Amino acid sequence: MRHDPRCPAFSAEFDGRWDKIWSAMTQPKVKHFCWRAIHDSLPTRVNLYKRGMEVDVYCPCCGNEYETVMHLFLDCDVAREFWLKGLFRVQTEDRSRRDFGDWCVAELVKLDDEKRGLLMNLLCSLWHNGNKWVFEGRRWDIINMINRAVELTGGASLLA
Ligand SMILES: [Zn+2]
Repeated sequence: MRHDPRCPAFSAEFDGRWDKIWSAMTQPKVKHFCWRAIHDSLPTRVNLYKRGMEVDVYCPCCGNEYETVMHLFLDCDVAREFWLKGLFRVQTEDRSRRDFGDWCVAELVKLDDEKRGLLMNLLCSLWHNGNKWVFEGRRWDIINMINRAVELTGGASLLA
């Protein structure tokens, strides 16, 4: 899928990097999910509120901050613990980036296709964890979340 040039995240630089990102070793549905995360089109509570839905905009996991993509994937206590126990170093503290999309693209282009795919799976796993928290009332389990991401990649070699 090509990104939408009308989207605010569009730039010539981003356009060039997208092909690289798209070659990640993961499932098309995961790439599609990441595309939505980068373009801030996931149904986070803040985005649902902006679309006119009456929702509690606070993060269901920590309850401390608004649930934006930046909070969900980087700033939330769950996200921090998740990346700390992650399979490779992801620079979650780099706040020179303008928004989550910028951060995500910058991290993805640093990696090879295999690890790029894994990072996408990890993001996907974090998102689904948040949904479980909301719909099933389950507390997060970081190791399960990471295992799920590895399963999506289909390879245990990354753990070696
Ligand atoms: Zn939170």
